[in-house]
Amino acid sequence: MGLNTIAEISHKYGSDDRYVLAGGGNTSFKNEENLYIKGSGTSLATITPNGFVKMSRSKLGDIWNKTYSKNKDEREAEVLKDMMNARCEGEENKRPSVETLLHNLFKQQFVLHVHPTMVNGITCSVDGKKVVEQLFDNAIWIEETEPGYVLAAKCRERINEYEEKTGKMADLLFLQNHGIFFAANDKEGIDALVSYVMGAIEGKITVTPDLSYVAAKDEKLVNILKEYIAYAYGNGVTVNFTLNKEIERLCASNEKFAVLMQPMSPDHIVYCKAVPLFIECFDKDAICKQYSNFEKEHGYLPKIAFAKNVGMFAIGNNEKDASTVKSVWLDAVKISVYAQNFGGVRHMAPDMVDFIVNWEVESYRSKVALNNGEK
Ligand SMILES: [Zn+2]
Repeated sequence: MGLNTIAEISHKYGSDDRYVLAGGGNTSFKNEENLYIKGSGTSLATITPNGFVKMSRSKLGDIWNKTYSKNKDEREAEVLKDMMNARCEGEENKRPSVETLLHNLFKQQFVLHVHPTMVNGITCSVDGKKVVEQLFDNAIWIEETEPGYVLAAKCRERINEYEEKTGKMADLLFLQNHGIFFAANDKEGIDALVSYVMGAIEGKITVTPDLSYVAAKDEKLVNILKEYIAYAYGNGVTVNFTLNKEIERLCASNEKFAVLMQPMSPDHIVYCKAVPLFIECFDKDAICKQYSNFEKEHGYLPKIAFAKNVGMFAIGNNEKDASTVKSVWLDAVKISVYAQNFGGVRHMAPDMVDFIVNWEVESYRSKVALNNGEK
């Protein structure tokens, strides 16, 4: 049964941190009539058949025949409403992933969408497109595009083009500065496609991140900085400390750290905010000042701070949150190293960063609005 199979695929990749971090990624199963897509707020590692949202494929298809507002925010709200209305009866309490439209574009029964670190070493690199074209003749490359309707529309166009040109079903889609889609008609097909892609990428990688543990040079200073950073936040946050070979290299100077000053993928923004902080002066007042200036400039406090020649501090509302921030940022660190194999890092475009920052606010608002409306 398809739903059990897609649950199995979800568990396999969702519990492997090479593919899925902090709840990113989604999966789907489809038949002629319905698309079953992972619901928001469920985790791939533990999803049950009941965690998928049953949707009408013809209603999702109707979205392509409609004309939406020219205004971005209005358009996304209209599309979201139509997407919600494409849920089948009895599914009203579930929220389909924002990437639902993309899943419905593939003709195969099973679709896996993830943001693997090693794949993003290519999608977030200068030579990404060229490398993908060289390695995979069945791949479609989509340049960085704002998520939601516009991205889905672009993918739809490219998939149609590919299928007309080759007479084959599109099964591999790389999204620049974002991730990858795999599509197949059975679990074995998905597994084969994933190992083919990962194997080919591994074969091209010579520079790999070195995350081996490095002991703090000055344990006392680490504790003092933790305290100052928590104080600068002004509330009961958890601050954790990490040091490894790669972080040691990156925190040596502002210049070395610069590669991390702009985001590489939406995940980094969603979990760690768009911009981190580099601390060079370890005086309490100076740190507080740096934080308040940062907040004035960006409108939020940084979730990540690198202290020069000390290491990395991740800030969260509690232990779990801080550890998620840490693992997502380590993903950014690893991507920045993998990208060196492919011409260096290609950061997200500034307007895309703004779009994601605003999208976060919007999606939260619409979520609240929908939940209120449904009660
Ligand atoms: Zn995604």
